[in-house]
Amino acid sequence: MNRWIRAFPEALYKRTLNAVFPPRCAICDDCVTPDRRGICAACGGQLRILRGPSCLRCGRTLPRAEAEEEYCADCAGQNHAYDRCFSLFAYRDIAKSIYRFKYMGRQEYAAFYAEAFVRRYRRELKSLCTDALLPVPLSRKRRGERGYNQAELFACEIAKRTGIPVRTDVLARIRDTKPQKCLDYYERHNNLKNAFIIKKNDVSLKSVAIVDDIYTTGSTADALASLLKRNGVRSVHVFTVATGADTPGRIKRERAGIS
Ligand SMILES: [Zn+2]
Ligand SMILES: [Zn+2]
Repeated sequence: MNRWIRAFPEALYKRTLNAVFPPRCAICDDCVTPDRRGICAACGGQLRILRGPSCLRCGRTLPRAEAEEEYCADCAGQNHAYDRCFSLFAYRDIAKSIYRFKYMGRQEYAAFYAEAFVRRYRRELKSLCTDALLPVPLSRKRRGERGYNQAELFACEIAKRTGIPVRTDVLARIRDTKPQKCLDYYERHNNLKNAFIIKKNDVSLKSVAIVDDIYTTGSTADALASLLKRNGVRSVHVFTVATGADTPGRIKRERAGIS
């Protein structure tokens, strides 16, 4: 069989698939022909990836006045259990995209996020020597309702591009917690207490990355990092698609009515 005939069914399959499920831009979700990155030209021209001076702990962009500082005001005032967080976008810039990825079944966006993440952090990914990617687990109930874990999809796409294995047999969420977005800073910490366990006692990993869709206050990352470190993991980094604009400091001030 010549190569043309062998390639024909695959080409036909792709055409049919594209006709039934036309490719969509991972940012605006329009049915367009996305570019190599998986987004349309209009979004490609506008989308901003986080760059420039950033906090060495949470990775948020530092305000111009604090550009010389190592840590943002929030991280300078508290001890995070994780070592460093790497995020790709400011949440406000891609909030709708993340919403569709998380709640509306747009699982294919994970490939675009991971491709952009690996390009942005190529150097860091090489130097971190990460043994495994650990997606933040969902409870069995929530995973059943949603049908997939968005953090796991993102982790699997990073794995394809870096060769770092995804491990879903290490962490488990045993308590169904309220969605973090409904809670304030203090409630988040209590909400996560004892929500996670280590499934495997023989964890021989030394350096891991927790993978999630959004970094907000760092409470989830801290809960998991302290659990992992208590079980012998030396360094815990955090990889997320987006980082929230609200800092714990701002939330605290709003709560106190200062804002
Ligand atoms: Zn678009
Ligand atoms: Zn920070």
